[in-house]
Amino acid sequence: MVSSGLAPGSGPDGGRVVAMLRTLAELTSDLAGAQRVAWTGVWQKARAFLREQLQGLPVTVQTDVAGNQWARLPGAGNGVVIIGSHLDSVPDGGWLDGAYGVMCAVETIRCLAARGPLPCALALVEWADEEGARFGHSLFGSSAVAGTLNVAEARELTDARGLRLGDVVAEHGVLLDRLEEARQETRGARAYLEAHIEQGPVLEREGLPIGAVSGTVGVERHRVIFRGQTAHSGSTPMDARRDTFLAAAATALAVRSSAVRHQGVGTVGAASLRPGIVTAVAGETAILVDQRHPDARGLDAMLAEVRRASREAARAEGCAVTWEPVFRVRPQPFADDLVGVVREVCAELTGHERVLPSWALHDATPMAGVIPTAMVFTSSTRGISHAREEDTPEVHLRLGLEAFYRTVCRVIARSSASTHGQE
Ligand SMILES: [Zn+2]
Repeated sequence: MVSSGLAPGSGPDGGRVVAMLRTLAELTSDLAGAQRVAWTGVWQKARAFLREQLQGLPVTVQTDVAGNQWARLPGAGNGVVIIGSHLDSVPDGGWLDGAYGVMCAVETIRCLAARGPLPCALALVEWADEEGARFGHSLFGSSAVAGTLNVAEARELTDARGLRLGDVVAEHGVLLDRLEEARQETRGARAYLEAHIEQGPVLEREGLPIGAVSGTVGVERHRVIFRGQTAHSGSTPMDARRDTFLAAAATALAVRSSAVRHQGVGTVGAASLRPGIVTAVAGETAILVDQRHPDARGLDAMLAEVRRASREAARAEGCAVTWEPVFRVRPQPFADDLVGVVREVCAELTGHERVLPSWALHDATPMAGVIPTAMVFTSSTRGISHAREEDTPEVHLRLGLEAFYRTVCRVIARSSASTHGQE
């Protein structure tokens, strides 16, 4: 039962959350999947849909300097508990990634608004550009609020058409020069809570609908550029080539072997060749490397090994190699006591209390660096995400909502109790 400080009321309606998600998917998807890429018109449509869902609730809706959308429900006392997730998707994405957490937060705020004044404020946040699909910089809005976004680096990032991040976000009202002000948004924050699909196969393999997240793994993401010599595919003998693609390919194999050796994961998700035609040896090849590990030492070892392998591969092909940082985040554990609350709630609802790390990053990652944070995971069917096949059984979505709601209620009640203790 919900403890002191909160009036009784009816619980959250899972049917309503699923209906909102289906409507959002219809509005913002095509046959290939969800197309809510941040800083695009479709994303704006998704954000407008969220504002419609908030209409009629006693909340103040605002957008901060980093482009995050907030809905604040005032409380009787000091402090605020923040709940939310993101609406942006990867291209051809799924219907649940991010959107599930936002709609769970909408339903939670709707239920709690109906229960009369809360002991502290409750704020829903819909983070801007969690995915980094267009510029390769994940967690834009949440890292701005956490104060960990490197503005100088972000400003110069370009999309596939060569447009600069700084220019594109300005069209959406985000001014990089004022990004510092976003840090004010966590003033008085007691906790950050987020519901999300697992996006991996662990819960499903164990037959569990929901689980508590212990934290998120560390990530190193780099653009590795090999420079050699463009030359004719026919008239250049094999021993006279400086083939950048072969150096990149050897590096990609090292990304895999290093990940396997250290029980991490490593991916080369993009490669571009210049001039990129069949009749020329590629004089320049750039690859994007993503490496992840739950432990900082493992992550550092994987990075060092692949750097070394890229230098060796470049030397073997007569090329030069440069590494440019794209994105980096250290492994981030969540707050033990809040993870404990999620665990307790999951045990009540399912009889199991599984705690698992998240191999995907979330807006909870930067938040956990500045305020106590926890997450609720629901299973992902076949572990598939970032694809239109992404799905979760509806009964798991409903259980995840219930677990999230109970967690929020308990954390609000606890934070009001601790405030009274201090004052
Ligand atoms: Zn997500």
